[in-house]
Amino acid sequence: MTKTLLVTGGAGFIGSAVVRELIQNSDYTVINIDKLTYAGNLESLKSVENSSRYKFEQVDICDKANIQRIFNDYQPVGILHLAAESHVDRSIVGPGEFIETNIVGTYNLLECAREYYNQLTDKSQFKFVHISTDEVFGSLGDTGYFSEQTPYDPRSPYSASKASSDMLVRAWYHTYNLPIVITNCTNNYGPYHFPEKLIPLVINNALQGKPLPIYGKGDNVRDWLYVDDHARGIILAFEKGRVGESYCIGGHNERTNLQVVETICRILDELQAKVDKTSYSEQITYVTDRAGHDYRYAMDPAKIQAELGWQPQEDFDSGIRKTVKWYLDNQEWVAHVISGEYQSWIKQNYSGR
Ligand code: NAD
Repeated sequence: MTKTLLVTGGAGFIGSAVVRELIQNSDYTVINIDKLTYAGNLESLKSVENSSRYKFEQVDICDKANIQRIFNDYQPVGILHLAAESHVDRSIVGPGEFIETNIVGTYNLLECAREYYNQLTDKSQFKFVHISTDEVFGSLGDTGYFSEQTPYDPRSPYSASKASSDMLVRAWYHTYNLPIVITNCTNNYGPYHFPEKLIPLVINNALQGKPLPIYGKGDNVRDWLYVDDHARGIILAFEKGRVGESYCIGGHNERTNLQVVETICRILDELQAKVDKTSYSEQITYVTDRAGHDYRYAMDPAKIQAELGWQPQEDFDSGIRKTVKWYLDNQEWVAHVISGEYQSWIKQNYSGR
């Protein structure tokens, strides 16, 4: 019998990459726990859904009775916790759901995991891996990197809710000896990314002839990591990470937002030239900056590289080309996810853009 891992948020962007990686390249049985909010999409799991090692549970992580049932029924060797409200702009418009899912939901999982862990006879293997973000560290100036030693300084309701959940996870380790590992990763990009985030939004808008919105002057810097490299880092953190530790994950791929958008336009000009031969970059439109917009994020991944042997396989130039090509080849997936609830949210919050 194979060992079982619970993955929360497995129908989301990064969670689905983790589930695909586990089913395709490991022996674990995977239980995907996902509420299926607007950001969850089971179509991202088509390549693995028929595996006998994959099961889906449509459950809210705040639902104690069902989370207890899942722990008891499946007897997992660990949990990879990715379920979250994840979009900063949405957290500014309506922070309530971020508090509920990211903080209360994480608290509920910790309590259910603690109860389950305490009655295990073999406690040697169990780990609670909490997936978090570099945004908990606040904003950098032009130089320097975030590391595991950087003090927390969250600025948005999203990052504050993630910082709170990181603190709860640490407390459950120190107070109750729950074996936890935390990962803090930089911005991810790649296939199956919901088209409200910068990279898929730009690809999608470019192809539809719509404006390519850039906040402020486009000089905010983000450190980009290909999603499959993050997924492998999370699995390594489960298998080899030291209990009680956190690991920063990033690929040293810093780009300004403007550089990212211009790169996408150049690749599209080459792969899907417009009939009139004008560049997609002519669609770039500068919009009023986001409130509290952090200037620069960049991560020092030295610890996960040295301790766990993690190395990214994709640099930004190869990864972004692969990503643009994936969106061109998978327009049906995009069409399905941008219908319904997402469209009405965009209408309410981005009218006039
Ligand atoms: P996402 O928004 O694409 O997916 C989130 C998933 O969680 C969705 O499938 C959604 O249905 C599910 N979900 C939301 N609320 C839930 C609830 N109450 N119960 C059960 N399921 C629920 O997010 P993502 O980009 O894949 O991010 C995954 C995790 O990684 C998050 O914790 C995020 O904070 C973290 N992270 C993201 C990035 C990034 O660049 N996207 C970077 C670092 C860390």
